[in-house]
Amino acid sequence: MRREMEAFLLVIAMAAVACSTRSSVTPGSQATLAPTAFSGERAFEHVRRLVELGPRPVGSEAHARMREYLRAELKAYGLTVWTDEFRAQTPLGEKPMVNLVAERKGASDGVIILASHYDTKLFTDFPFLGANDGGSSTGALLELARVLAARSETPRYTLWFVFFDGEEAFVSWSATDGKYGSRHMVEKLERDGQLSRIRALILLDMIGDKDLDILRDAYSTRWLQDILWETAQQLGYGRHFTDRETFVDDDHVPFLQKGIPAVDLIDFNYGLWNRYWHSAQDTLDKLSPQSLKIVGDVVLRALPRIEAALAAREKA
Ligand SMILES: [Zn+2]
Repeated sequence: MRREMEAFLLVIAMAAVACSTRSSVTPGSQATLAPTAFSGERAFEHVRRLVELGPRPVGSEAHARMREYLRAELKAYGLTVWTDEFRAQTPLGEKPMVNLVAERKGASDGVIILASHYDTKLFTDFPFLGANDGGSSTGALLELARVLAARSETPRYTLWFVFFDGEEAFVSWSATDGKYGSRHMVEKLERDGQLSRIRALILLDMIGDKDLDILRDAYSTRWLQDILWETAQQLGYGRHFTDRETFVDDDHVPFLQKGIPAVDLIDFNYGLWNRYWHSAQDTLDKLSPQSLKIVGDVVLRALPRIEAALAAREKA
C-alpha cells in the first residue's frame, strides 16, 4: 500500500505530535456503546502464530502453511471456505497466488466483504516478519469471522471474509505491481456476473500498532467511513480514529473503481515517522491485543448500521 508523498510529510508531523501526547492505547470513558465478544487476545494469538512461521511472501512454504492455518480455523468456525487460485504477471515473472474466502450466508444474496491481505512483502536483504503489515489484520479478520459465525441469528446480508493474496508489490508499487489479489477478485466477479452482489467492503490493514491512530483515507466512501468513525466515538475509541485525511492506495481501490462502497481502516503511522513500516522492526512487540480489539469492536458494532444503511439505499 502507498500513501501520497505530501500526506506522508503530514504523517511525519503527526508522529511528532503523537509521541509527545500519547504513550499507550486505552479505551475512553465516555462510551455509550458496549464492547463486543471480539477477543483481542485471540486475535493477537493468531498474529503470534503467523509471525512464528517467519516471512510469508507469495509462493513461499510459510505462506502456504499460513493459508492452511486460516482455512482450518475458518472451517472450525462452521463457515463455508473456498479458494481462488490464479497466476499473476509480476515484474519477477508469473507467480501463483491464492485468494481465500469464507462465507456466512445471510438473508440476502447481497454480500458485505470484510477483508485483509495475508501475504507479506518480499525482502531478500532481511527477514521481514510483517507482524503489523499482513499479520495484524489477518489475525483480526479471523477473530471477526469467529464472532460473526457464532451468532445464532442469520445476518441480513451474506458475509464474506476475504484474505487477499499479493497485495504487496514485488519491485515497486504501481497500477500493475501490487493489489494482485483484489484486482483479480474484482475482475473474476465481473466476468462471472457476480460483481453486482457486492454491496460494500471493509478493508483492514496495519491495525495492530500499540499506538493506534487510524486516519481517514480520502479514497474511501464517505458515508461508510462516517458510520465507522461515529461508532468508534460511541465506543469511547474516538481518539484512535482521527479526522486527519490522506489518500491510501490499497485493496479497497479496485472495488471503489467499480462503484462499490468501500473503506480502508489503516494506521499508516507505525513508529516514529512510520519507520517500522516495511522494515525489520515490524515485529510482534510493537503490537497490542487492545488495538486489535478496538478495531474489532468498531467493525462489529458498525455492521448492523451499515446493513441498515445499505437496505435503505436499496429501497430508495
Ligand atoms: Zn506492506
